[in-house]
Amino acid sequence: MEGKISIKWGRGVERKDGDITAIQYLKGVGPARAKALVESGICSIEDLVYYRPRSYIDRRTLHSIRQLRQQLEVPRGESLFSAGALPFYREVTIVAQVVDIQLRKLRGARELLILVLKDEAGDKAEVLFWNGIAYYQKRFHPGEWLAVSGRPELGKYGQVQFHHPEIEKLDAEDAQRYQRGEILPRYPLTQSMQKARITSKVMRRIMQSALEVYLENLEETLPAAVIHRHHLLDLPTALQQLHFPASPHMLQRALYRLKFEEIFFFELLLALRHRGLKLRSRALPMVQKSLRARQLLASLPFELTGAQRRVLREIIADLQRSEPMNRLLQGDVGSGKTIVAALAIVYAVDNGFQAAIMAPTEILAEQHYHIFQRYLEPLGIQVVQLVGGQKQKFRRELLEKIASGEAAVIVGTHALFQKGVVYHRLGLVVIDEQHRFGVRQRAALRQRAMESYGYEDVAPHILVMSATPIPRTLAMTLYGDLDVSIIDEMPKNRKPVITRVIFESDLPQLYAFIRERVQQGQQAYIVYPLVEQSEKLQLKSAVEHFEYLQREVFPDLRVGLLHGQMFWYEKEDTMRAFKEGAYHILVATTVIEVGIDVPQATIMVIENAERFGLAQLHQLRGRVGRGAEQSYCFLVTKDHFRYQLRSRDDAAEYKAAIVRLRTMEQTTNGFEIAEVDMELRGPGDLLGTRQSGLPAFRFLDLVRDGELIALARQEAFQIVEQDPHLRTVPYRKLREELFGRFREEMELLEIA
Ligand code: ADP
Ligand code: MG
Repeated sequence: MEGKISIKWGRGVERKDGDITAIQYLKGVGPARAKALVESGICSIEDLVYYRPRSYIDRRTLHSIRQLRQQLEVPRGESLFSAGALPFYREVTIVAQVVDIQLRKLRGARELLILVLKDEAGDKAEVLFWNGIAYYQKRFHPGEWLAVSGRPELGKYGQVQFHHPEIEKLDAEDAQRYQRGEILPRYPLTQSMQKARITSKVMRRIMQSALEVYLENLEETLPAAVIHRHHLLDLPTALQQLHFPASPHMLQRALYRLKFEEIFFFELLLALRHRGLKLRSRALPMVQKSLRARQLLASLPFELTGAQRRVLREIIADLQRSEPMNRLLQGDVGSGKTIVAALAIVYAVDNGFQAAIMAPTEILAEQHYHIFQRYLEPLGIQVVQLVGGQKQKFRRELLEKIASGEAAVIVGTHALFQKGVVYHRLGLVVIDEQHRFGVRQRAALRQRAMESYGYEDVAPHILVMSATPIPRTLAMTLYGDLDVSIIDEMPKNRKPVITRVIFESDLPQLYAFIRERVQQGQQAYIVYPLVEQSEKLQLKSAVEHFEYLQREVFPDLRVGLLHGQMFWYEKEDTMRAFKEGAYHILVATTVIEVGIDVPQATIMVIENAERFGLAQLHQLRGRVGRGAEQSYCFLVTKDHFRYQLRSRDDAAEYKAAIVRLRTMEQTTNGFEIAEVDMELRGPGDLLGTRQSGLPAFRFLDLVRDGELIALARQEAFQIVEQDPHLRTVPYRKLREELFGRFREEMELLEIA
């Protein structure tokens, strides 16, 4: 996806001059506070009204202390890895009254300040302050009502505790409003805002006057028909209700409307881009039946799964059209994407076209080369490999074979699309592991293909394969200009990798187990994460670990080492040696190549597994379980992870780690894992998706709003279908709005 799209607080529409100073004149603002707001990224009245409350104080929906305690409890003596409920890790808000303030002396002249709180139901909780005690002692008094937000913990005696939570004092008026059941918005307060004494209460006042000014002249942005069809609130009502909801229901409707709008305009952009791809170029349709594809199918030792058959039909249908295919083929690690690609390639070849497969690294290219040779040469289809560093003479011969069409299938790395490579009717390009492949490379590729026909406007069909399992709606959003096919079924003969969390004290048994399996001809990976701060130390500790394993634990076995500071060719040599069985055990500090296939490797040990993210754990585990033998994945972690939840500042991270490890034990389904992952990282955190060109959504939650995304997408694509240039009366305004939000992207589209 092209470019980075950044939206600040507002809806992103260009601002009129003078807007910035306008906030200064709102009731309750003034120069100092205006400055603090600007420093926080709120530069206009529009930014203000789009500043989303972080939570609401609403007695109908807040947690009670009793509920929290129930959710936090792990039955005594039971391991965290066998307990039924997931430990609690999300931030919550409670409202309660201070009933006592206690100062405890700790060892070493340290002190601890505890606020004892009681909620309306009479249940007690504690707020703990480990530093800044003098300040907090002055700040809080018995009898005060507080809104406390943070991640709750369970103390030693079963009490609900918050460590240094965010606290807002409710004054008498607010406390009364709360008790009457009014909903009060709470805003995220930056440091600048806090310094300028902007509290949530102050923000509420500012917001009230901002809304009065802004909503007066605000025009609806969505077409009336869309609003009607989806029962949306109009924009002014939605914004009003976002800040001052009349009821939880109205708040939900307001959020729905704002989310819908946010994703609708983005999908509209994607729809235009998708449409542009199709209009700008044509493809030569492939209409011949393919005899050799049937032959290949018949020669396989297995039957295609239903999912493989379905996606193959989708791909073939695309190849038969005169519009170029732009399709993403997604499937979990080991779901069998390669054979689907091979069948599509044979189909293209039987229609008189050349096909190319591009892999991100040489070793993966080499692996594909061997697989495709094995599948295609018996059918009389010539496969060649084009990578960097091949001898001049050899390369020249290769290029000739490619140019003449003698080589029908070309496997390679980026070298495939360098200048000087001339194709012969390049009809289909398959790209493996797309996340490493940029837009510019896609363009170079299209260029080479066009040259191979001598027509300006003929583009190849493109199939992008990705093993990053993400939920369908997210895939559609992320790769919005591609059509998406998903293989959501694993081959039946597959034995799921047995996954166990083990503790450091169990390592001797694990090493014995590895030795036993190695003696039966199998191989193991031991992944050792980088834990030190400096690169030098990282390398040192990894090397020491490797030497220890080789010398003390497996002196009679061959152990290899792969680390980040090796040159790429050293890495590839080591990987190749492992693949060929020269090493029994491979100790790796860097992530082992995505997609590498060593069927004899059946054991994956991940040390300090609590430090890895879920996606990474799943990818690593995908390196085993590729052969007929039962495979194992061992997640090694510290012994104290077995029972304890440390009740300190890092407890939340600690719990998230336990959830990750347990999830790995419980499922091998990449899509399920991806959902837990996104759940853990929280709706606001788009870490993994931000680099991919998605705008920072203010309201939309990519994990939970799948249904809404699908609806908005359908609506947007239908509109573009009816009016591809958005020039008719009902849609003209959408165009303006799009230019306001995504100027750069829209200009790119117009030029292209
Ligand atoms: P990935 O989708 O991760 O690229 P591969 O295409 O490498 O997966 O397939 C993994 C393994 O599964 C290969 O050895 C392949 O031959 C095998 N395979 C593919 N499809 C099936 C099937 N329908 N039944 C059994 N095995 C299959
Ligand atoms: Mg693959």
